[in-house]
Amino acid sequence: MRRNADELAKMRKAGRVVAEIHEATRAVIKPGATTADIDKAARAVLEQRGAGSNFLGYHGFPAVVCTSPNSMIVHGIPSPKVVLEEGDIISVDCGAIIEGYHGDAAYTAPVGEVSAEAARLMEVTEASLFAGIDQLTDGNRLHEVGRAVQAVAEAAGFAVVREYVGHAIGTAMHEEPQVPNYWPGTPGPTLREGMVFAIEPMVNAGGPGTLLLDDGWSVVTSDGRLSAHFEHTIAVTDDGPEVFTVL
Ligand code: MG
Ligand code: MG
Repeated sequence: MRRNADELAKMRKAGRVVAEIHEATRAVIKPGATTADIDKAARAVLEQRGAGSNFLGYHGFPAVVCTSPNSMIVHGIPSPKVVLEEGDIISVDCGAIIEGYHGDAAYTAPVGEVSAEAARLMEVTEASLFAGIDQLTDGNRLHEVGRAVQAVAEAAGFAVVREYVGHAIGTAMHEEPQVPNYWPGTPGPTLREGMVFAIEPMVNAGGPGTLLLDDGWSVVTSDGRLSAHFEHTIAVTDDGPEVFTVL
């Protein structure tokens, strides 16, 4: 779906709130902090900005952020019992709603000093996101996003998750079409100015396999190796891609 200038302005505002949540949550990530602390910091920003949460209550999700440490890929539930330790990595995914329009973005951050592999995984995953974003130009085809993400991740010896993908976004967080982080086997739709997508590679240090835990939410790597997740909400404009989820 193509959004008009008024809609894009609202999405820009929602994106900015998400970026503010990223800034506020990054500030609490340190050894000894809990993932509940991350959720609390995010709630404070939403409240301050008068923004709604598109995570809280989503299919019953109990928090405004997903917090997924180490081998957890996505959808981790914040908890006062999950304490961050030196050397961990933590993925934080969150969103905001302003005047009915949605933003959605994620990052993975180090907790203190991390291993060389963890640092490289985060660096490559973020680079794969930006390689995908570069493909969001009017007239290009959507599948080029996944192809670019996959090329960067696999060139580094990592694997992209198949079961969880990006999506169009607007008056709902998850709109059609989906945006796979790999060549989907068939060409995607043609991109047009005004379309908005959340691109979100999940990259595993080992194999691409995933496993859903018994809580019904937490998704981990099937081989127990690390995973990283970076996401932005981006519009296709006549001047190229515009990332909304930045300050
Ligand atoms: Mg997200
Ligand atoms: Mg998303």
